[in-house]
Amino acid sequence: MRKISLAAPGDRLSVLCLGAHSDDIEIGAGGTILSLLAEGVQLDVHWCVLSAGNERAAEARRSAEAFLQRAASYSIELGAFQDSFFPSQSREIKSWLLALRERVHPDVIFTHSGEDAHQDHREINKLTTNVFRDHLVMEYEIPKWDGDFCRRNTYVPLSEDALNMKVALLLEHFGTQRSKDWFDAETFRGLARLRGMECRAPARFAEAFTVRKFVLA
Ligand SMILES: [Zn+2]
Repeated sequence: MRKISLAAPGDRLSVLCLGAHSDDIEIGAGGTILSLLAEGVQLDVHWCVLSAGNERAAEARRSAEAFLQRAASYSIELGAFQDSFFPSQSREIKSWLLALRERVHPDVIFTHSGEDAHQDHREINKLTTNVFRDHLVMEYEIPKWDGDFCRRNTYVPLSEDALNMKVALLLEHFGTQRSKDWFDAETFRGLARLRGMECRAPARFAEAFTVRKFVLA
């Protein structure tokens, strides 16, 4: 299989991460970001959590800072859209994303998947590709009670270290998630192992994405 890199060690890569809630980006693409940083890619990251009001703002910021510790630069934006009601705030979220598009010029965007069963996640997916039309968009996946896993077409193999760090940071920073019975190391490692199996990852683990379009130069 011919493999295509997002960036080589030493390259500069501008990344936009979009997540509805404070743990989404970390769960879906945290390992990929940690791997790129560990490989020596110079990441400039714009990290946006659209619903991170009140008590979740501090944990969202702390977690993002921990994941981005080695980034060349980063900025974190926390929105205050109402959790669970994104479809009815579509107009406001689209305006927010249009304003964001004026400020950032990413090489790659990580966003929610169109197959996601959560209404907030689907809304962000729909608006990402609606607003950002000239970008590589990688749609990440989030395990959940609804059981919405599907076939993915893009894989990023993870080192054992990157996966361990992702899981440790998730457990450390999202105390409020511990009431969710699925939020544990086995869920994250199990999913990464299955995706790693599908792409024959050298260290056995991977994150998987859907890329709807990409252009070969
Ligand atoms: Zn979420």
